[in-house]
Amino acid sequence: MAINIRNSEAPIREFRLGAISGYNGTVTDLVEKSSGCSLKNRERCFSQSTSCSAGCAQGYLSGIIDAAIINHAPVGCAADAIYSNVTNKWGNSIRDWKHKNIHFASTNLNEQDTVFGATGKLRQTIEEIYQRYHPKVIFVTTSCVSGIIGEDIQSTLDELADDIPVPLVPVFCEGFKSKVWASGFDAAFHAILTGVVKPPEKKTNFVNMINFRGSARKEIIEMFAQFGVEPLFVAPFSTVEQLSRVSESAATVSICGTLGSYLGNGLEQEYGVPYVKSLQPHGVAGIKSWLRGLGQAIGKETEVEAYIAKEEERIAPALEKLRAKLRGTKAVVGMGPSYGHNYIRVLNELGIEVIWGATWHYDQQYDHGALPESVKHVAQTQKDLPISVCDQQNFEIINLLNRLRPDIYISRHSGSAMWANKLGIPSIPIIDEYTAFGFNGLISFGQRIHDTLTNRSFAKNLAKRTRLPYTDWWMKQNHFALLEEAAE
Ligand code: SF4
Repeated sequence: MAINIRNSEAPIREFRLGAISGYNGTVTDLVEKSSGCSLKNRERCFSQSTSCSAGCAQGYLSGIIDAAIINHAPVGCAADAIYSNVTNKWGNSIRDWKHKNIHFASTNLNEQDTVFGATGKLRQTIEEIYQRYHPKVIFVTTSCVSGIIGEDIQSTLDELADDIPVPLVPVFCEGFKSKVWASGFDAAFHAILTGVVKPPEKKTNFVNMINFRGSARKEIIEMFAQFGVEPLFVAPFSTVEQLSRVSESAATVSICGTLGSYLGNGLEQEYGVPYVKSLQPHGVAGIKSWLRGLGQAIGKETEVEAYIAKEEERIAPALEKLRAKLRGTKAVVGMGPSYGHNYIRVLNELGIEVIWGATWHYDQQYDHGALPESVKHVAQTQKDLPISVCDQQNFEIINLLNRLRPDIYISRHSGSAMWANKLGIPSIPIIDEYTAFGFNGLISFGQRIHDTLTNRSFAKNLAKRTRLPYTDWWMKQNHFALLEEAAE
């Protein structure tokens, strides 16, 4: 399904990409059933709390330097803003920038508003936020409540267009609409594509680098300079003016396939900016595939091959030593689908055996209509690998970890990683998206795993002092006992 920027909202992932949040099987079965998007979701008869699309959308957009976010919602929906502010401060600090808070407000919908409507409150909040911060764009994010009561957000923004001299952009990301919180990233990118990006006036030598916090920006600037291009980091820590010009770039790459699919494919489709649809740049196979895709897009294949050959040779001795130390280690992976499938490959490169891969959802295709490269790669190299899909249901993950007892659990979310430690299983949360990035990242990630495995006292002591909230009954059940059969 092509991306339609004439529509006010992005269709959710379940509809657009055949995304599912319930599955248990092998990677080969998953890939085979994905052909033609025929894989069926398996519902749960019980589920714990999880994330929501609105949190994803507003967290991502709030990182744009001169933007403001208004969440048209009860104030509880803005709880994630605290985390967004913390990561924003971290991002400021690694750039040696002055600490500043994100510009985020809630319209604080109450019971009365759900009966009588609250577009007046929204209007007032927009006027106040503009006066207070003078942002270059105001994004208005929706919520379950504003969606259910049918608030006419677009008309309110249209009415204010003459009074507020910056784009007022709706972000349709009601949590109830999708079980896949990454639908929120698409809602955010749809808002950027429709409300911020301008048609190109010229071509530049920038390469759009879709990412989160950009900790490896120095390394990427130096790497790209060897190919005569400069990164334009999208979207956190960039200005609205910079983002408005992404249509002029020479190519788009992404640190994460889940994150980058919508904007990358949208820019290619609308403005002819090639989107690199490779493995993600983690580990050796990942960085090679990613750089080759970039080299092809910008006509620098020779330079890229020379860089790869030099770097691969440089890290070979260190990688060999690490493999010798880590060989025989058994790991379980629990992450979003792009990171999960890419990190299974990265761990294999380090000599580690992955015995289970759990991902928080699964896209049967990306927006260019093809299966993600990363899952294809895992299916080719580890065809019987058990794979499960759950929207970070900790009761399933804890049960699974308790049964498998791996040497280490590698997760992308600290909320999941901590539970492994409470079971006495050392874990690493991959908070920084550039962990294991490229050649150097692979070596430092391997060293971090080795450090974690050789000092297990944190997990051991935590497990000794923790009482798990689950009963013995549950721990003895099959971890997917509450997953229902797929509907025919
Ligand atoms: S948008 Fe819905 S799911 Fe998300 S935090 Fe608000 S009420 Fe919860």
